[in-house]
Amino acid sequence: MSSEYIVVGGGVYGAGTAWKLATQGKDVTLLEADTIACGASGGLGKRGVRANGRDPRELPLMEIAYDLWPDLADEIGYETGYERTGHLLLYEHETGGIQGGFESARARQSVQNELGVPTERLSAKEVEEMEPHITENVVGALYCPNDGIADHTATTRGLARAAEDHGATIHENTPVTGLERNGNQVTAVLSEDNRFEVDGKVILLSNTHVPELVESELDITLPIWKISPQVISTEPMDDVPVKHLIGHDHRRLALKEISDNRVMISGGWRGEWDDDAQQGVTVQARVEGNVADARTVFPALEDVEVQEADVSRRESVTVDRIPVIDTLPGAENMIVGTGWSGHGFAISLAVNQLLAKWAIEGSRPELLAPFTANRFAANAELEASSYIR
Ligand SMILES: Cc1cc2nc3c(=O)[nH]c(=O)nc-3n(C[C@H](O)[C@H](O)[C@H](O)COP(=O)(O)OP(=O)(O)OC[C@H]3O[C@@H](n4cnc5c(N)ncnc54)[C@H](O)[C@@H]3O)c2cc1C
Repeated sequence: MSSEYIVVGGGVYGAGTAWKLATQGKDVTLLEADTIACGASGGLGKRGVRANGRDPRELPLMEIAYDLWPDLADEIGYETGYERTGHLLLYEHETGGIQGGFESARARQSVQNELGVPTERLSAKEVEEMEPHITENVVGALYCPNDGIADHTATTRGLARAAEDHGATIHENTPVTGLERNGNQVTAVLSEDNRFEVDGKVILLSNTHVPELVESELDITLPIWKISPQVISTEPMDDVPVKHLIGHDHRRLALKEISDNRVMISGGWRGEWDDDAQQGVTVQARVEGNVADARTVFPALEDVEVQEADVSRRESVTVDRIPVIDTLPGAENMIVGTGWSGHGFAISLAVNQLLAKWAIEGSRPELLAPFTANRFAANAELEASSYIR
């Protein structure tokens, strides 16, 4: 078996990059350990497609993604559940950490507008007009009208189907176990039962698995760890009090309406990981903490019960909370993407397009320059041994 491009991982990155390559007539094989969208790109509810509050280094990617999301369903021929709801980043008081507080909103607004993300600074009264059920403690908000939400599971599966429609081959239940190399080139990707030869490039997009593979195969330790983010859905309501995608300056809180008139509550709380059972475990106090924050900001949620809390989807996180998208010493024909740090879904459409371009043309697109692995090395000129171990 031999392919021009081998993509590892069937999340939104692997599926989307395979699709972008396949639509350009390339010979693509995607290897997925389990099933498409079984990782961070699948599961309960919807994902925020948000630029508001994002690291400025990712904002040029969001500017591109803004143009791509509305038409994606038509382009691939499958549902994405994308809706442009707008995002309100709420401020309640001035003690939002060193970077937060409403004092900081004007500076953030100006950076976001400069980098292609239309952003308005709203007064408490303007916020209340948009969100009539919100607490009176809100002093203002940053509003990004182009932000929205999408069905991440449907989007990821749709991208994978569209890749197949354009000729890509997808192998599910095929965990990658190793690489075969000749000098600095990867010549084959190995699974337990198979050897997949590569004529061109490997694109390693298996999220939490990427650091493990580059450690075992290339002896490079990326400064990345795994988390199990918590998401909660409420029971259905007659009247959903949350009208926009909501974020918060100092509370770990995100809210959005999802199917069946329910509200999804998330924003940075985490579960534990049970290594023996290989599954996420919810922590009741954290579920209650997340819900309590939601009820403080939207008192109308006071009597609404939790329907489900889920921590089963793992995500990779870097020390500076932006991803690593790079080639690594010892594997010059392999591009890796990992460390999405809890907000990789929204930018994926832009990154997938750039990854495909990089793989085909051979040079790193300028917009991906902030995401090199050697930003963590003391001396960027040093080879593998200089990476953090
Ligand atoms: C609960 C939660 C909420 C989030 N909310 C948001 C949000 O609101 N907005 C936002 O922008 N982002 C959000 N994110 C982040 C976003 O979902 C992720 O960054 C994104 O989905 C990562 O996509 P991926 O394709 O890299 O990873 P994944 O979807 O994890 O895909 C990786 C795939 O690789 C496969 N794999 C693993 N090991 C192997 C192997 N050995 N061989 C082959 N395949 C392998 C896995 O089975 C998996 O299918 C959230 C993440 C989580 C978990």
